[in-house]
Amino acid sequence: MTTRTQELQARWDAALMPNYGTPPVALSHGRGAEIWDVDGKHYLDLLGGIAVSALGHGHQAILEAVSRQVAVLAHTSNLYLHEPGVRLAEKLLELLGAAGRVFLCNSGTEANEAAFKIVRRRHPARPRIVAAENGFHGRSMGSLSVTGKPAIRQPFEPYGAQVTFVPYGDVTALRNAVDGDTAAVFLEPALGEGGVIFPPADYLCSARELCDATGAVFVLDEIQSGIGRTGHWFAHQRAGVRPDVITLAKGLGGGLPIGACVGLGEFGATFRRGDHGSTFGGNPVSCAAALAVIETIATEGLLENALKVGSALAVGIGDVEHELLTSASGVGLWLRIELAREVSAPVEAAARGAGFLVNAVQPNAIRLAPPLVLTTAQAQKFVHALPSILDAAS
Ligand code: PLP
Repeated sequence: MTTRTQELQARWDAALMPNYGTPPVALSHGRGAEIWDVDGKHYLDLLGGIAVSALGHGHQAILEAVSRQVAVLAHTSNLYLHEPGVRLAEKLLELLGAAGRVFLCNSGTEANEAAFKIVRRRHPARPRIVAAENGFHGRSMGSLSVTGKPAIRQPFEPYGAQVTFVPYGDVTALRNAVDGDTAAVFLEPALGEGGVIFPPADYLCSARELCDATGAVFVLDEIQSGIGRTGHWFAHQRAGVRPDVITLAKGLGGGLPIGACVGLGEFGATFRRGDHGSTFGGNPVSCAAALAVIETIATEGLLENALKVGSALAVGIGDVEHELLTSASGVGLWLRIELAREVSAPVEAAARGAGFLVNAVQPNAIRLAPPLVLTTAQAQKFVHALPSILDAAS
């Protein structure tokens, strides 16, 4: 008998481009960190739509904010302003604790495109950008050019920027690469798509110092790490460093599409009138959702929850003894499970079979980026199931 999932997969294959392959699950609805597929199978969502669904699924605060906004005004274009956009920009600056200005857009890659253009405006004569090997900044031609994964970048060369890629976390390599010709240093506070890898404690501060010494713009991509993922509003706050430009998306909208490029200090005023724009960017509905996300993180204590549940999850996984499991690491609800062999794909599939959505982020590593509302009891369910998941993948 054909399941509803199989039927949808066949129609997907016929109607959608093959860039994603055929997804293994057809999701239907969710509540908090629990989610169901179209055939009624239940999963614990330990990936949150890749670090997006910060409040989980079906959160009342988002439902109310979006419904209220869509009922009165869903779109204005950028010819007219609206209060949710103003309030969101003010709120982001307040959380950043810094003066600056915000450009609102629809996605992470667009936030990075805006950052890229700020860099060009700032340093029109500097040819080079420094970025990290295994870094990820998006799929558009600008964002892709600074993405340090050759397999996804090289097929679309050439790009407009000259980019030097350095090993992530290596201060000496960064020092050797950044000089007076460097327009910008583009980094993530921890590699997300690269496998949830945090750099040494002094790495971001060293990048800041190098940018100060050379005049390069320090762009920090907080698209995956921002909005509470690490138990801090922004991961750079944990590292005690201040970038020049910060890009945000993913968790910001809690599932609604929104991105933001924040220029701190003078970098907020680099664009001249007409330099950049977006028809849908920062639309009132997505801004209302983002305001609801931020307010709920604060009122429900979700930064504290991310630290508490994240550390219980990491410790619990670390205590599991299995020949396939090497270690668990990460900060807040952003974890890497390191495997002894390149078996992440079968582990992901076995987890799915057991009712857990996780991500084979690297051949030897699993990523967890669950909703920030995950409870300790839910985390423990995964810890208890992990040995049999690993057995099934062996
Ligand atoms: N930057 C980082 C660090 C990301 O993790 C991603 C997406 O995974 C992006 C940029 C691109 O964001 P989007 O897919 O919203 O364009």
